[in-house]
Amino acid sequence: MITFNNVTVQYDASHTALRGVNIHIDKGEFVFIVGASGAGKSTFVKILTHELVPKEGSVIVNGQDITRLSNSKVPYYRRKLGIVFQDFRLLEDKTVYENVAFVLRVTGAKSREIRERTSHVLNLVGLRGKENEMPSKLSGGEQQRVAIARALANQPLLLIADEPTGNLDPNTSQEIMDLFSAINHMGTTIIMVTHNQDLVNAMHKRVILIDEGHIVSDVEKGGYISHV
Ligand code: ADP
Ligand code: ADP
Repeated sequence: MITFNNVTVQYDASHTALRGVNIHIDKGEFVFIVGASGAGKSTFVKILTHELVPKEGSVIVNGQDITRLSNSKVPYYRRKLGIVFQDFRLLEDKTVYENVAFVLRVTGAKSREIRERTSHVLNLVGLRGKENEMPSKLSGGEQQRVAIARALANQPLLLIADEPTGNLDPNTSQEIMDLFSAINHMGTTIIMVTHNQDLVNAMHKRVILIDEGHIVSDVEKGGYISHV
């Protein structure tokens, strides 16, 4: 589903973020990306979200080389991704319901479909009954659930989560991980960048360690490794 072929990203003379990276991720996998600050994790995510196009190498997502996408195709490509951030990034002046429905409206979905999908994903993340709340009235875990519902609204092939538990306490973090696990079991491929060693160790999923732009370890059912 995702293949990186010899991807190198050099921002400038003194900053090479990825060095000849080769990765293959199959549909349905749950993959942790770990590594120290500055290792290249954000650069890897930015390539997948097409915020950054590497000049060297190719990146195939669902049969399409996204290093060669024309500008007009980028919005369609992005709709196939769900992205969840550490800081939730909700629209503070919109209700829970509207935060999710909004992303369906911009795709031109019919109003009945918007209502059905929005209710479906809000139920899925455990927010039934919170539809009319404003984000600021919710706990951090609930706000992240809204963000996850929004990420799922367009039925993405791939869910990318960048430190999704970074602002949450340990119990809430575990609940959010259980939700990601359930979403993965329903068939969605998940790539998660995290520093949370306990969560990585508890999940027994694939762990890819990046260090100074190199993949230095890639282990099925691995644990968190911070040094090599
Ligand atoms: P991580 O997410 O693992 O902290 P990044 O992908 O953000 O790592 O960064 C990898 C390397 O690339 C670091 O050395 C960082 O300083 C550098 N880098 C990241 N973004 C830029 C940029 N826009 N311009 C120059 N260097 C950058
Ligand atoms: P994180 O570790 O959460 O990715 P950073 O503080 O490393 O956050 O980076 C924040 C932003 O600054 C990112 O968009 C990254 O690409 C950019 N950045 C990181 N390092 C550099 C750098 N050396 N020069 C310019 N921009 C950078």
